[in-house]
Amino acid sequence: MARLFFALQPSSDDLDQLARAMPENPGAGRVIPRENLHVTLAFLGELGAEKAAAAREAADGVQAPPVTLCFTALAYWPGPRTRVLVPEEVTAAAQTLRGELARRLRERNVPFDARIWRPHLTVARKARPAEEVRLEPLLLGFKEFVLVHSRTEPAGAHYESIGRWPLHEHRSV
Ligand code: ATP
Ligand code: MG
Repeated sequence: MARLFFALQPSSDDLDQLARAMPENPGAGRVIPRENLHVTLAFLGELGAEKAAAAREAADGVQAPPVTLCFTALAYWPGPRTRVLVPEEVTAAAQTLRGELARRLRERNVPFDARIWRPHLTVARKARPAEEVRLEPLLLGFKEFVLVHSRTEPAGAHYESIGRWPLHEHRSV
């Protein structure tokens, strides 16, 4: 069994941009290390080999354009007690990607978190409640999505990308 999720990973340049845009101490909690920053597309949970293969098949057929998200606020979510960067809107391309992936996962009976998708970038966990902070608009672009294997280790979560799929503008043949 492996704990899996699909995600968007900011490029190294976008991570530099993000670091510059962040306030000094974003969460007063456990700050997420740079290499772990991601936007979860679909959280699958613990899957055996067969379901994991089906998840890859689902991703193989996804036709969706590159995604941009413009993050404009650092919010506090009381449920998970996280500090999160949230975009001003969920762009059409982002919805298309999530929708396509969700549809293909459902077709293959791959379980995933099917609640309304709220794209976000968690920057701190076990955070204290805090007022929402407006940010200089932070435009992040994603040209691919990845499948991540997540392990919980004493030092924290360890993520390993075990698959990646490019996002392309629609090409009519
Ligand atoms: P750890 O749980 O090891 O402390 P983590 O929460 O970063 O670290 P995972 O639990 O594997 O690692 O979660 C991976 C990603 O999926 C995170 O972005 C997490 O917020 C998200 N996630 C976890 N559980 C769910 C869920 N039930 N529904 C939606 N997203 C989830
Ligand atoms: Mg977790």
